[in-house]
Amino acid sequence: MIKKETINIKRSLCNACGKCAQECYTGAIEVLGQPMGIDDLLEEVKKDSVIYRQSHGGVTISGGEPLLYPAFNGRLLKALKDEAISVGVDTCGYVPWINIEHLLPYIDFFSLGYQTYGPGKTQGIDRCLQRANP
Ligand code: SF4
Repeated sequence: MIKKETINIKRSLCNACGKCAQECYTGAIEVLGQPMGIDDLLEEVKKDSVIYRQSHGGVTISGGEPLLYPAFNGRLLKALKDEAISVGVDTCGYVPWINIEHLLPYIDFFSLGYQTYGPGKTQGIDRCLQRANP
């Protein structure tokens, strides 16, 4: 009998440190993207300033769930506003109101998405949002 070994990752405990990617000998786990600070991000975004002006476009922050990181995104959103760059946030909305409230002055629009699998299924989502934002 062949014993099957598996490695399970508890995603709920993952803090995205990336050490598993460094140790993964098959290359099955890899880190995509690169860490960037606010200044680096702003410089990257500003490369497209002409396009934003001509198209009346801007930056949409998405994720994952961007509103789970209100401190970092608050600094980024403020920096973008200081540069007069329009900002949208793509969110499921399933975060505490306090995560949203202090970002409101810097957000021009929200794209609120939710997933549903049939008629009447949004009731569960509504209840989740009410629990998150009583
Ligand atoms: S090693 Fe780091 S990135 Fe990989 S699963 Fe564990 S906590 Fe997450």
